[in-house]
Amino acid sequence: MSDCCSVNAKSGSAPAVMACPVNGARSKQVDMLTVKSLVRKLPLGMPNTQYYFCDASDCEVVYFALDAEAPRFRREDLVVRVGAKEMADPIPICYCFGFTRQDVWDEIQSTGKSTVGERVTVEVKAGNCACEVKNGLRVVQGKTF
Ligand SMILES: [Zn+2]
Repeated sequence: MSDCCSVNAKSGSAPAVMACPVNGARSKQVDMLTVKSLVRKLPLGMPNTQYYFCDASDCEVVYFALDAEAPRFRREDLVVRVGAKEMADPIPICYCFGFTRQDVWDEIQSTGKSTVGERVTVEVKAGNCACEVKNGLRVVQGKTF
């Protein structure tokens, strides 16, 4: 098997957090597997470098690389909407089960609480969720709630 199918970047020396080249937001590492899963059309010759995720809602950049020569990916380059990037409902919380922020609000309004988080956790524990790969952004436990 050739190197081109390897999904793991050599992250040994990459810093855990990088400033977004566009807005300077502190951005965390994201797996190459996540980038490759979510980017609509990967350019040829993707370098095997560490990617970072900018979650600023006012920044167009979603993924950028440690290697400045490597392509950056914007919202429109992704196959799904990124929860942290979307200001308007419905905002996806869990891509796998289709829960949105609107679902949570609806539930809170009618029952006073939200069980979406628990339901997602149960599904994740049952092995039904691919969010680890699809999100790479821990939207479920993150500030979306
Ligand atoms: Zn940014």
